[in-house]
Amino acid sequence: MLGSVNPLRRRSVLQGGVLGVASLGLLNSRAIPANQAKRERRGGKAGPGKRLAVVGAGAAGIASAYFCDSAWSVDLFESRDKIGGHADTLNVTEGDERYAVDIGAEFFHPDTHPLYWSFLAEIGARSDDPEESLVIEGPASLTVFDGGTGEARFGSEHVLEDIPGALRFLTFTGEARKMTEPDAPWETTMGGWLDGLDIDDGYKRDVLTPWLSSLTCGDVELVRTQSARAHLSSFAKTFPRSIFEPVHTYNSTVGLEGYLRMLLDACENTTVLTRAAVESLEEQSGTWHVRTASGRRHGPYDAVVVTAPPPVSKEFFGDVPDLGHIAEHLGAHEYHPSRLVIHRDPHYMPADKDYWAVQNAAVGGGHCETSIWVGAYYGTSDPATKPGIFKSWAAHRADDPGELLAERRFSHPLSTPRSLAAARDMMAFQGERNLYFAGSFTTITDLQETALYSGLRVAESLNPQGPQLTSFKKRLADEDLLGVSYDIV
Ligand SMILES: Cc1cc2nc3c(=O)[nH]c(=O)nc-3n(C[C@H](O)[C@H](O)[C@H](O)COP(=O)(O)OP(=O)(O)OC[C@H]3O[C@@H](n4cnc5c(N)ncnc54)[C@H](O)[C@@H]3O)c2cc1C
Repeated sequence: MLGSVNPLRRRSVLQGGVLGVASLGLLNSRAIPANQAKRERRGGKAGPGKRLAVVGAGAAGIASAYFCDSAWSVDLFESRDKIGGHADTLNVTEGDERYAVDIGAEFFHPDTHPLYWSFLAEIGARSDDPEESLVIEGPASLTVFDGGTGEARFGSEHVLEDIPGALRFLTFTGEARKMTEPDAPWETTMGGWLDGLDIDDGYKRDVLTPWLSSLTCGDVELVRTQSARAHLSSFAKTFPRSIFEPVHTYNSTVGLEGYLRMLLDACENTTVLTRAAVESLEEQSGTWHVRTASGRRHGPYDAVVVTAPPPVSKEFFGDVPDLGHIAEHLGAHEYHPSRLVIHRDPHYMPADKDYWAVQNAAVGGGHCETSIWVGAYYGTSDPATKPGIFKSWAAHRADDPGELLAERRFSHPLSTPRSLAAARDMMAFQGERNLYFAGSFTTITDLQETALYSGLRVAESLNPQGPQLTSFKKRLADEDLLGVSYDIV
């Protein structure tokens, strides 16, 4: 295990820093320096003269701010009352312990998230010392079960009870890994790819396709429209070569939002504006103004980085002459709704507790939705010591779970070949009129990894000599990771 739970450390990141109160929803359209203490140490000295507006304080927006902060005075606009975007962490108390539970993005792994993994070490969030590290290792176990009866159809920890099923799964993982290679076609859909797999049709229908849909849209037909490479890239590299090898995944003891707060704490020239939904961008004499929902006009800015999702940001350009092509590309991105709940109800889990895994995919009708056993990461090897906290996709279920602790609706990218083609074509306009785009929607797949990558790419244009970028690139060079790319070509 890389890290054990350290409640003090966890608490300090979740509550500390000037942005801590933002997570409690106490802020009302306020602008706060990302790091008040650093700003005060600077005394009356002004920040950099160049001004940058970043729209959206998710992983991509915060990474962009972090890497540009040394050379730009950054205003980071966020429509919600807290930062993080799809990295959204809640505190859940059980007994005397408090757990940082991610209702949005949660898992990462060095094979799917090599840049992110390296970056966590760069910012001091990951360390070989378990006392210091804010990373926790857990099992990546999986059960696919019938949502009606609770009966298991596949259990990654019960392979000896179903050798044919396990071998089919192994064939799938080998083929899936090949589809994540850089030369794999991103135009092939999941449907086309699955149909071509030399695996028993019943297994594809009853286990594979439902489970694969549970990892994104939860809709067994809709998942077939996604790009196979995009979808599989988000997890398939973590599969072991043998069915008997244990698979691990990694999680944060401070939540993924906690990591983003650490980045903001390191910024000196960034101001975060929460409850500041951007409505439009206006260009005037080569500079930009940002108009927010309150009607206020901010600026002028020398450059703008847009990370808000395309269904929202396509509206920003209505009044800007000659930028119709950008709005058109943004409009081609496809999204689907999802609903996540954090709860304590074991009814969403397989009937036989022996089959409880970290990931529990419940198949029912044309849908399949997963419940993550959050508690599986904690306690001892005795399941009875593991907290009964669950995180479930719950857009299509017949009933809500009993003890509901939190709920959030997301609009989630559907990585179809059409969306990917739009993302690829749009990159030709990156930097045009000092307008930049970052966000996982500009890359091959939807991960914290690709959101970080997109922020790095923007900083390579806006602050190529910045100390944060230089230091991180040196680390990447040492780890032979400089060539990692998520561009769609
Ligand atoms: C339920 C769920 C589970 C996931 N699980 C994982 C996982 O386990 N591992 C992983 O690596 N990835 C996971 N992901 C994907 C990951 O969360 C995303 O790839 C990543 O967070 C995207 O970051 P982003 O900055 O591009 O976008 P976002 O996080 O969407 O950030 C965009 C920001 O823009 C803000 N915004 C929107 N409109 C406006 C406006 N008008 N003005 C100002 N701000 C605006 C939004 O509020 C948001 O904060 C998951 C996603 C979801 C939804």
